[in-house]
Amino acid sequence: MLKDYKKKRNFKQTPEPSTSQQSSCKDPLIFVIQKHSARQQHYDLRLEADGVLKSWAIPKEPSLNPKMKRLAVMVEDHPMDYSKFEGIIPEGQYGAGKVIIWDKGNYFPYNNGEYLFTNRSSAQEVIREGLINGKLSIYLEGEKLKGAWTLIRTKPDDKKWLLIKHRDEKTRR
Ligand code: MN
Repeated sequence: MLKDYKKKRNFKQTPEPSTSQQSSCKDPLIFVIQKHSARQQHYDLRLEADGVLKSWAIPKEPSLNPKMKRLAVMVEDHPMDYSKFEGIIPEGQYGAGKVIIWDKGNYFPYNNGEYLFTNRSSAQEVIREGLINGKLSIYLEGEKLKGAWTLIRTKPDDKKWLLIKHRDEKTRR
């Protein structure tokens, strides 16, 4: 799953991680949003699923306003260790520019005000299905972002998704 990630990068030149460490199997799934000051500044949303970080590049800052749909372009899977990466990708390398962690925390599959989280494997099953069907409802428990969002694919087999804040949200007990 990390073939594309590795193919795009020269690990002698970039400080980005080449390996993936699995998180312990009891922890909830993690997410990270990195602010990436590449040629075009964007935010990279990464969700842990099946041992990798599923990733979307979002040209504009994620919004708390349900009316503000954010384009989210699916990009290659990233290794788990990328969730801790901050640094400068040198000029001439893929994605050259500064990367900082903008937000991080745990995330949970979410539906109609309910967490669908009982354990990692059932959470990942829901996520896997959502990725195939092109619709993913998630609850982000970050430092900046807290609440439910939907990621929805615009067309079958397209890389373009939309990230939309839920309005029907209940707070976590
Ligand atoms: Mn990026």
